[in-house]
Amino acid sequence: MSLWQSIEESIYQATDEMFSIKSRDSISGGCINEAYRIVGSNKNYFVKINQASNLAMFEAEFKGLEEMAKTRSVRVPAPVVVGKVAGQAYFVMEYIAMGGGSSTIKFGEQLALMHRSSQEKFGWSQDNTIGSTKQVNTLCADWVNFWAKYRLNYQLTLAASKGCGSRLISLGEELIERVPDFFSNYQPEVSLLHGDLWGGNFSTDTNGNPVIYDPATYFGDRETDIAMTELFGGFGQDFFQSYNATWSLNDGYQSRRDLYNVYHILNHFVLFGGGYAHQAERMISSLLAEVE
Ligand code: ADP
Repeated sequence: MSLWQSIEESIYQATDEMFSIKSRDSISGGCINEAYRIVGSNKNYFVKINQASNLAMFEAEFKGLEEMAKTRSVRVPAPVVVGKVAGQAYFVMEYIAMGGGSSTIKFGEQLALMHRSSQEKFGWSQDNTIGSTKQVNTLCADWVNFWAKYRLNYQLTLAASKGCGSRLISLGEELIERVPDFFSNYQPEVSLLHGDLWGGNFSTDTNGNPVIYDPATYFGDRETDIAMTELFGGFGQDFFQSYNATWSLNDGYQSRRDLYNVYHILNHFVLFGGGYAHQAERMISSLLAEVE
């Protein structure tokens, strides 16, 4: 069976409704997968395609979208089915027509609501990916250890294996030892996170409702999501103010912002190489200067 026949069949199995593809358009904008809108006679779906070896990545994204949907806060695409055939993995989800203008005020309120969703420990029921890098979500009662070990140390080790150079390694090792210093007056709550909240993973539907997608979900400090909205821009002061008005951030957020964002910069070095190593070095040097 061909890829597209198999997708039609698996949509039928998952929804109990026959679906036949009338047309399909390629969608750009993603970093990792090929993406398509498939059009049926009265329904459309959004489909991501990758090599079969990436099936687990799609399964984890499916569960992440389900976990976020349960909170009934920010709109996320409803996942439909994941499968593989003929060497390829696919992920079918609800197609959401985007483009109703920006609604960052509403998004601030809804994200704060999503962050209220909690569990006992930091981490998640399974590992997932950040970009295409493995993200370790081993359950852990202690956030400081979690961040030091499964976020910073994990990425630093990968960066070392990609030849990032000894200066970044020694700065990174020093930062890992100093992580507790950033938490002397702060105990984060366990919050459900999007995990990869840059502007490219946020949009609005045609009614102007915020939509988030392509998550790297786990339970952690909500400041990590807020920090990432500031890393590449695009969310603005309205978002920040409405988030804070709904659930105010701790005063020490500014001092931890780059401690959280350096994880993504290290990951960018691991994925793309180049100048990200220097950016990580600069961020780490100023973080270390703060706790001297
Ligand atoms: P990747 O996993 O390759 O990074 P994304 O999940 O970011 O791909 O999706 C690529 C683009 O497709 C997004 O930037 C967005 O514009 C659009 N998109 C993502 N999910 C949907 C969806 N469910 N419905 C419609 N468009 C979507």
